[in-house]
Amino acid sequence: MSRPSSPVAVCDAVSRVYGGSNGRFRRSKPTVRALDDVSLSIEAGEFVCITGASGSGKSTLLHLLAGLDTPTEGRVTIADTDLSACSGKERVRLRRDEVGIVFQRFHLLPALSARANVALPLVEQGVGTKSRRERAADLLERVGIGNRLTHRPDELSGGEQQRVAIARAIVTQPSLVLADEPTGELDTETGQNVLELLQELPGQGRAVVVASHDDTIAAAADRRIELRDGQVVEDG
Ligand code: ADP
Ligand code: MG
Repeated sequence: MSRPSSPVAVCDAVSRVYGGSNGRFRRSKPTVRALDDVSLSIEAGEFVCITGASGSGKSTLLHLLAGLDTPTEGRVTIADTDLSACSGKERVRLRRDEVGIVFQRFHLLPALSARANVALPLVEQGVGTKSRRERAADLLERVGIGNRLTHRPDELSGGEQQRVAIARAIVTQPSLVLADEPTGELDTETGQNVLELLQELPGQGRAVVVASHDDTIAAAADRRIELRDGQVVEDG
């Protein structure tokens, strides 16, 4: 049975201010309003590209949506749960179960095989060893590197490492997949392959939000949200 679906993520009048005077240190940094009164709603099935120049607030927005950072003002809601109102434990659970993240520099653990990297989020979820290995191998197969299960990150190309990172981000079947400049370290052709992979992810209750100043990604997205100096200047 399908329920009327609520948004996967909502930002309600969100601002994030960095710096300023700090109680312990007399020296104060100039404050930066990295996000300024941002309101938006991400629906299941959407492939959204956050665009904007370097420093416009894209990474800050993704960190807030991931629950890795908290807004100075306003509210972020993931899967109907207000991140600022829930307990620390609940926030950890939401981050673990509802959000998957792909970083520009992949952030894989160097000592672990591709399969073990992908399986890692399932350890935190308490999934058994056999099932973890199967699910990780299945996903690596699906992203096209089923023949690299036991390779370590330094034995993989950039594009292959990013495929591992994408597999790791979706292994828990999160409702929200966030990717921060996922093609920034890749050559054009490899970047195109990674983009195609990301485009397959929306649907089945999932949304994908990619921060990028790569025009190819912006053109491929269903919706572009442009930031300028921390404000949304275009959404559509
Ligand atoms: P983008 O990802 O679009 O390049 P960011 O979200 O990284 O932009 O940064 C937005 C603004 O916030 C920039 O002016 C940046 O210098 C500032 N900023 C980002 N992170 C911090 C931080 N931890 N401390 C202070 N200022 C920061
Ligand atoms: Mg950034």
